[in-house]
Amino acid sequence: MREAKLIAARMLTPEVRELTVDAGPGFVFEPGQWVSFRIPQSTEDRVARAYSIASPPRQDGTFLVAVTRVEGGPGSNFLHTIEPGEPLAMLGPEGLFTLHKPERPILMVATGTGVSPFRSILLAYEQLPETLLLFGHRTEQDLLYREDFVAIEQRRGSFRYIPTLSRGGPEWPGRRGYVQSHVPEMVRMLGGDCDVYVCGLNKMIQQVRGVLKNDLGIPRQRIHSERYD
Ligand SMILES: Cc1cc2nc3c(=O)[nH]c(=O)nc-3n(C[C@H](O)[C@H](O)[C@H](O)COP(=O)(O)OP(=O)(O)OC[C@H]3O[C@@H](n4cnc5c(N)ncnc54)[C@H](O)[C@@H]3O)c2cc1C
Repeated sequence: MREAKLIAARMLTPEVRELTVDAGPGFVFEPGQWVSFRIPQSTEDRVARAYSIASPPRQDGTFLVAVTRVEGGPGSNFLHTIEPGEPLAMLGPEGLFTLHKPERPILMVATGTGVSPFRSILLAYEQLPETLLLFGHRTEQDLLYREDFVAIEQRRGSFRYIPTLSRGGPEWPGRRGYVQSHVPEMVRMLGGDCDVYVCGLNKMIQQVRGVLKNDLGIPRQRIHSERYD
């Protein structure tokens, strides 16, 4: 267990709080990895919860996580109330949801805070093959880190950010519906052959995997996923 400290916090959307954590200069990780925080107030013994790192590696050992508040959930509620300056016990980094040798176009699919590892990867690696980030959420105000992805899109011709809303208002000009319904078109836009990275809740991941394997014939070895539940 490493003694880290919360040094800043802000709300990214009405449900998501971003934490800046200082784990000290010796802390190194690979973009796409996660850490787990000990949740002290829990009635269960020694509960820990995992969070993907949303920032690229930094020299000083600080990093960002984005936490969705889950009704009644001990981990997310603790992380939504802890104040800057307070200690945070953590383990990690861990996880294999890192970029595999990029040899073909990349499709990233995320919902909610599942977009965090992709933010880390996209900010860490300037040179990537053609990449599409398909991001699903409910409403426009839920699109966390939208301005960052739009900025990456503006400076890199090889990257596109494609949000889709399941409950977009009448003024929303973009795509609508769940991510899985847009996956076939994304794969076509990438020429039919791509590596796919999927991150979020398991139900979405299973549906995206089903479309990729059964409808589009993408081999299993090209599909990488990280499930949050
Ligand atoms: C590898 C990994 C990385 C993760 N990274 C993140 C992250 O970057 N940000 C983050 O917010 N969560 C992340 N999670 C989920 C996180 O670990 C907790 O499960 C979540 O915060 C809920 O914990 P809780 O104690 O508040 O609620 P619990 O009572 O433990 O969980 C209640 C239910 O909440 C649902 N849930 C879990 N995560 C989410 C979510 N993100 N959005 C909506 N519903 C959810 C699940 O259905 C779960 O069964 C990650 C999980 C894993 C395994």
